[in-house]
Amino acid sequence: MKFKIVSKGDERSNTIKATMKQYLTEFDLEYDKEEPDLVISVGGDGTFLEAFHRYHHRLELTAFIGVHTGHLGFYADWTPDEVEKLIIEIAKTPFQVVEYPLLEVIIRPRSGGKEDRFLALNETMIKTTEGSVVFDVKIKGEHFETFRGDGLCISTPSGSTAYNKALGGGIIHPSLEAIQLTEMASINNRVFRTIGSPLILPKHHTALMEPMVDKSFLIAIDHFTTNFTNVKSIQCRVAKERVRFARFRPFPFWNRVRDSFVAEGDGRV
Ligand code: NAP
Ligand code: MN
Repeated sequence: MKFKIVSKGDERSNTIKATMKQYLTEFDLEYDKEEPDLVISVGGDGTFLEAFHRYHHRLELTAFIGVHTGHLGFYADWTPDEVEKLIIEIAKTPFQVVEYPLLEVIIRPRSGGKEDRFLALNETMIKTTEGSVVFDVKIKGEHFETFRGDGLCISTPSGSTAYNKALGGGIIHPSLEAIQLTEMASINNRVFRTIGSPLILPKHHTALMEPMVDKSFLIAIDHFTTNFTNVKSIQCRVAKERVRFARFRPFPFWNRVRDSFVAEGDGRV
């Protein structure tokens, strides 16, 4: 089996990376940056997102696992003191794979040139630096509302505990193939009206945001934000690709949610 380790870059993460790399190669596993079967992220969720995006072109061939050093570690669920156990598990056992849905984002330019396509593990956020965004929001091709406000967040189920949660969105179990749209400070008065509640769309239901005013937009895909001009539309739906997590022990999603947000307790079984 071929593996690659992505470290956050701090001393602690680098030390764990070096230890894991040494032991796993001694167990005859091959370190391969280009075509790894397993990508181990050592750091926080930010590091995990980075690792995911580095290999997003070969998702059907790569599984991910995370060791967390310090931060929350919603995706990175192995602790540094479990590293030895994890090394043995990786070396000895063929791992199980758990798949979670992803979000597909397609940005089409007004000039009719090439579209951009992205995959997000957490979410996309559409904002602007120039006042409010004004969009026509279409769902499954039908006009739904005209949104005016700070922006919109469209998240995956596993990303529903990230920015989406801070916006008052619901937490969605990743066995549900869905995306969630949440508003950021929508303007609601006699003139402008939006639904207000988070919307949850199933697979194949497309949300299309069409800017009413030609502005520049800040579009974030997970931890990475880009400035876009000349935007005709932003289309979101459940992607056909999925992310694959390597599982060496069960750690149910709701235990993960509880341990991250409610209790300190050890929910592992
Ligand atoms: P960051 O500023 O370190 O992220 C903010 C926090 O979100 C961190 O504690 C991070 O965990 C945590 N996080 C990331 N993905 C999560 C998930 N799926 N479920 C629960 N918590 C999650 O920035 P970052 O590390 O580059 O991560 C980027 C992500 O942070 C974005 O995709 C966005 O969802 C989220 N974010 C949230 C807020 C907010 O809640 N108000 C604000 C900015 C960004 P770690 O500490 O382990 O990295
Ligand atoms: Mn972080």
